[in-house]
Amino acid sequence: MDEPVTSRICFMCEAVAAPGANYCGQCGAPLNRTHAIPASQNPKWYHNVWVVLFMLFFVLGPFALPLVWKNPRLSRGIQIALTLVAVVYTVLLIQLTMRMLQAVGDSMNAFNSTLNF
Ligand SMILES: [Zn+2]
Repeated sequence: MDEPVTSRICFMCEAVAAPGANYCGQCGAPLNRTHAIPASQNPKWYHNVWVVLFMLFFVLGPFALPLVWKNPRLSRGIQIALTLVAVVYTVLLIQLTMRMLQAVGDSMNAFNSTLNF
């Protein structure tokens, strides 16, 4: 037998199939050799870990968390960790934004007080 060493990926949902399984354990799609697609050859762009991280921290913030939770390539532990990081990141970002607004306001006041009309 020359079974590939790498786990097969379900062509329907991209879940990693158990070795030797004929059907996907997640969605029930048949797993024959012609449908065995390595994750690197036909990835869904939103399952790319870097896309998810980029969306999470630079585009959608906590609204990207569904991408994390629906991503079959991330383990449950990583999903929980990313969720916590995203929540902390969001709180810090809000605090930073409020501090910046306050700093801008303070400097505006300082600038205004130097004007002598
Ligand atoms: Zn599947």
